Amino acid sequence: MNRGLLLVISGPSGAGKGTVCDAYKNKCGQRVWNSVSMTTRAPREGEVNGKDYYFVSREEFEQRIQDNKFLEYAEFVGHYYGTPLDKVEEQLAFGNEVVLEIEVQGALQVREKMSQAIFVFIAPPSMEALYERLLSRGTESKELILERLEKAKREIKLAYMYDYIVVNDEVHNAADKIMAIVRAEHAKTERAIFGYNKLMEVE
Ligand code: 5GP
Repeated sequence: MNRGLLLVISGPSGAGKGTVCDAYKNKCGQRVWNSVSMTTRAPREGEVNGKDYYFVSREEFEQRIQDNKFLEYAEFVGHYYGTPLDKVEEQLAFGNEVVLEIEVQGALQVREKMSQAIFVFIAPPSMEALYERLLSRGTESKELILERLEKAKREIKLAYMYDYIVVNDEVHNAADKIMAIVRAEHAKTERAIFGYNKLMEVE
């Protein structure tokens, strides 16, 4: 069986990457598996442990770093975030597509470890739109919003390191663009050559 495709999606807080990813997964159906990250930040209202994140203490997180249990991890605005390695490996081995929604430092670590992954950066249509979205979320204090905005500016500067940039002007448009990217990636010679060789054998 062919190994699944690993899709890494980054973008600043407020660019709408979570919404775009959900729309993308809805369009694709069950073939796509969304990794659940681990974090030391507190749950926001409505977030569920094991679904949105695994919420753990700093001690537990640091123990897992020691035990090499993360594909990647990073500190973001004072909290740890990381991708548990075992589940990702399992899903890729099943041939499923795996989506990681992670920030830039973590994505760069994945780039080092899994060079075949596809890297997509979700960009906001403008900085004003980003600020508006952060404000309208209403889940954070003004201070934290400003901190995230500064972080966003630094992240946007690193977008050139990604394979693709998708501007989230409209959620369904952005999700369609990701579908098109993934379809094209499946047809890339280095991925498609195996099936093609089999076809030649039959003839
Ligand atoms: P939030 O606190 O808004 O849920 O997430 C903050 C940032 O951390 C977002 O950019 C989100 O994509 C990123 N993030 C979530 N999970 C992970 C992870 O496992 N690893 C890394 N590196 N970043 C993550």
